[in-house]
Formats: sequence, C-alpha cells, structure tokens
Amino acid sequence: MITRMSSLFLRTLREDPADAEVPSHKLLVRAGYVRRVAPGGYSWLPLGLRVLRNVERVVREEMDAIGAQEIQFPALLPREPYEKTGRWTEYGDSLFRLKDRKGADYLLGPTHEELFALTVKGEYSSYKDYPVVLYQIQTKYRDEARPRAGILRGREFVMKDSYSFDLDDAGLAHSYQLHRDAYIKIFDRLGLEYVIVAATSGAMGGSASEEFLAVAETGEDTYVRSTESGYAANVEAVVTPAPPARPLDGLAEAQVHHTPGTPTIATLVEYLSTKTDLGRAFTAADTLKNVMLKIRKPGAKEWEILGVGVPGDREVDQKRLEAALEPAEVALLEEADFTANPFLVKGYIGPKSLQDNGVRYLVDPRVVTGTAWVTGADKADHHVVDLVAGRDFTPDGTIEAAEVREGDASPDGHGTLVAARGIEIGHIFQLGRKYTDAFEVDALGADSKPIRITMGSYGVGVSRLVGVLAEQYLDELGLVWPREVAPADVHVVIAGKDEAVFEGAEKLAAELDAAGVSVLLDDRKATPGVKFADAELIGVPTILVVGRGLAKGVVEVKDRASGDRADVPVDEVVAQLVKLVRG
Ligand code: ATP
Ligand code: MG
Repeated sequence: MITRMSSLFLRTLREDPADAEVPSHKLLVRAGYVRRVAPGGYSWLPLGLRVLRNVERVVREEMDAIGAQEIQFPALLPREPYEKTGRWTEYGDSLFRLKDRKGADYLLGPTHEELFALTVKGEYSSYKDYPVVLYQIQTKYRDEARPRAGILRGREFVMKDSYSFDLDDAGLAHSYQLHRDAYIKIFDRLGLEYVIVAATSGAMGGSASEEFLAVAETGEDTYVRSTESGYAANVEAVVTPAPPARPLDGLAEAQVHHTPGTPTIATLVEYLSTKTDLGRAFTAADTLKNVMLKIRKPGAKEWEILGVGVPGDREVDQKRLEAALEPAEVALLEEADFTANPFLVKGYIGPKSLQDNGVRYLVDPRVVTGTAWVTGADKADHHVVDLVAGRDFTPDGTIEAAEVREGDASPDGHGTLVAARGIEIGHIFQLGRKYTDAFEVDALGADSKPIRITMGSYGVGVSRLVGVLAEQYLDELGLVWPREVAPADVHVVIAGKDEAVFEGAEKLAAELDAAGVSVLLDDRKATPGVKFADAELIGVPTILVVGRGLAKGVVEVKDRASGDRADVPVDEVVAQLVKLVRG
C-alpha cells in the first residue's frame, strides 16, 4: 500500500501537548497518532490505528496458535451476572454503571469473566466438550481514579482477554502454561523489554498468578528481583520471609517505662538506650509501631477498626496494605474515631488495649512467637519494653503491609532484593472455581456425575502496548517503531522540487508496493527540512531519501534507529529494501 502524505489525515505538532506527562504520550500526540477526547479517552488517527491493528494482529496470531477461539461480547452488559458474583459492588467506583430508558441497571464491561462462564455453561454440557479456551479483543471500560499518560491508563481501552475452561487442576495448569508461552512469544515479537513477576501473595501462592511488566522508569508498578536468583515479584506480592519462632523460656518480663518527650521512634530509642537502667542499646527495628486503620467490606455500611503492627524501622506501604485487604476499602482513623474510642491513646497504642477491646490486630510476619518488642503501653508518655509475642499478646494474624526495601533478603532464600519500575502489559491468573461456582458451570462426567469446571483468566493490554512500545522505542527526534508494528515499512521522502525527482520517487514507491512493501510517501510541497523532521518524528524504521543524487543514479537509505545512512544505486534499492523488510 502507498500512503501519500499529501492527502493523509495527519497534522504533526511542533510543540508538546500541555497535559502530557510521559515522553511516549508527548510523541504520540505530536506525531499525530492519537488525540485526546476526554480524561482517559483517546481517538486513534490513521497512523495510530495502524500500529494498534498491528499489535492486535500479533496478539491474535499467537492466541490462535494455542488453539484459543475468538468471540466477541458486547461492552454494554446487564447487571444480573455481575450482581451474582458480587462484582457489581466489589468493583466500587471503577465500574461505569448506567440505566436504560426503562430504569434497568447496566454496566460497561471492565472485564468479562461472568459472560464467558455463562456462555460456556450455555453451550457445553459433557466432559467430552472440554477443555476450551475463548478470547476476545475488545474495548473495556474502567472509571480509573487517575487516568494517566494518555493511552497507558485509559478509561476506555482495548484488552485481549481470554479464559480457559478445564475439568481439573492439571488441565488448568496446562492452559496457564500455554498462555504463559504465548505471552512470551507476543512480547518477544513486539521487541519489548519485560519481566515476568509473581503477582499474588497469600492464599493463591506459587505460579497461580503472574504479571508481565514492561521495564519503564515511568511505570506505576514497582517490582523487586533477587540479585542472585530468578526471583521477581510485584511489590504487592512479596511474601516476607518469617523468622522461626523462638522459645519463650528465660525471656525478660515485660516492663512499662515512663518515657517523657519521645514523640518519635528516634527519640524513643535514644531515650531507652541512654536514660534508663536497661543497659542495652535499642534501634528502631526493636520497636513495634501500631498503625490504626478502618476498613469497610464491599457493600457494608459500617467501618471496622483494625490495628496493624509493623517493625518501627519500616513504613506501611499503602499499595501493599490495600492489596492485602482487598476488596475492602481502607482509611486512616480520624480524630472523631479516637474520640469515640478512648482506649486508643494516640501515640502510645499497644497490642493490649486493642485486644482487650476486641479490635482486630494484624502484625508483620517478622513478629513471630518469642520476639520481644518495645511498643505503646496504652498510657500517655509510657512505653512497654520486652513485650513478647505469643506470651504477652497474641495477634489475630499476619499482614503484608510493611514496605519492601532494597537489600531485604529475597523470599526464595537466595540473594537480596533490588527494585525497578514497570508497566503492566499482561496478567495470567489461575482463577479456579470462583465464577463457575457462582453460575454452577458443570460438565457431566463419564460416570454421569457433575464435574465443576475450573477457570483461568488472561489479559493483555492491547492499546496500552502501543504506549509502552512508544515508551521503549523513542529518541530525542521522535518515535522509532520496531518493524513488526510500524505504521509503514518504508518512509519515502521526496527531497527536491524537480519533476524528475518526483517521478523517480513515485516509480520506486510503486515498485516497493508491488513487492508487498508498505510505503509512506512524502509527496507534499514542503521543504526537505520539514519532511525530514516529520520522518524522524513519525518513526517508520527505514527512510528512503530520493533527492538530487537521483540524477547520478543514487538514493539514500537511512535506518531510523541507528541513524546510519548509505547511498544505494537506484536500480538496487528495491531489492535491498524488500530483503530488509522481510527480515
Ligand atoms: P493495572 O494494575 O495497570 O491497573 P490491572 O491489574 O487492573 O492493571 P487487569 O485487570 O489484569 O489489569 O487487565 C489486564 C491488562 O489490561 C493489564 O495487564 C493491562 O495491560 C491492561 N489494562 C488494565 N487497565 C488498563 C487501563 N486503564 N488502560 C489501559 N490498559 C489497561
Ligand atoms: Mg487496574
């Protein structure tokens, strides 16, 4: 195909858009790929749509290759199935809800587990029908709290979501592995730099859920990896290695100390180390900091007070805390809550009064039986020393809320952790029976007994990938697309006003087109300087300059990524470019 810049619906901009935060977003707007319509809502202009379609093609080919079958659901969905699984409320403010003219509730689908489960239930009944993997490449809607960086976090975006349906856990593990392999192929073909990280902690465990994160400084996800092993995890998924419990015998008695003027942990440990007769030095890690929160389960009216105890040398990490308490809402206690609960002595809260007053108390996994702590004594200006877990207080459980730091021991026992940032591009998840239980999706077994189907769910952020690719492939001049997704194979720049130059360029473009190479032809009546700047900005991987040299039988081939240029005889250039494009 030959696309002529003289008639292409494209206007490049010299200035960065005012609202753009990340480099990829600036360039996608300046190069005329996308335009903003609303917060988190973008339209795709011709060149952008081509890149989006190319990403879709790669995703589709690799999904088809694992035997997944493409279907398509509406985005406008009735409330009932989501009511049944609890997600109508659990999704909270992120769900776009609306009413039709009769007052019936609808939503715009944020993800489609319910519909896939119901559809499979509707069509299949025998164990012989399974396994099956279905997918769609479709527009999703989420009322994101912070739409960001253009298409990276939209409120309307394109996702490939697939779902596997298997008779047993071994089948699910197989479907999961097929997706994992397919995702590796997709992201390798797209030329992305990415990592695969563990994505859930606690109950799900193991390989049940993994995220694919594109490496990017501008990413919103922080992940950690081990310096020595292959361990990598989303920070939310890091499971703190708990030390072994220690014997209680022979541990010192807990003692309350008057500790005036110690409002911070630093002043407290200083006071205990120098102004008491304890005769030992304390550090922040010896203290147990109790953070008071309130949580509210989805759909509930009442808030529940919750105490979280973490070693005093660590902050509570908001994202880890929220992930650990999901789907409940979390907020800090307010002044009114303290007034209503006088047993909470602000600044001196200890485990004892929490437990005496029926407040749930969860601690960091490092707080194991036999560990002794300095903590609040539930009395102003007083702290208790040598308060021993499992002897003087018994937490209601553990919680992964403390910050993860570089240098922490890797959970797999090998090496220490280092941190980096990324953008989530894919997520694979062994869901199990949550949705098939809700809708009673069963297959009749060989013995005529019903078998409850087990599900996997797998997502790729298709439109986000365009932004991620732009983020990883750019330089100070503009975009630099990898060939697999580029909006054209060759950008032909006509650098000259002569009739002969125009004719020569048209002829080369026609020959390239005939050989199956897609051409973006800059046939505008603009100066070569303008044309070169636009070619760099648009980022087609190969630029062919047809100019004055043509009279001497040469044209110039320029590699957008490296900037390398070479003069090539005009009668050889088509063959050379065809070879280059076909790889
Ligand atoms: P995130 O943590 O970035 O919000 P998520 O955990 O909500 O992602 P999933 O529900 O697993 O994401 O969705 C599957 C994929 O869809 C993600 O891996 C991501 O690539 C993409 N995606 C999710 N939300 C958005 C969005 N608002 N805009 C664009 N792509 C998105
Ligand atoms: Mg999200």
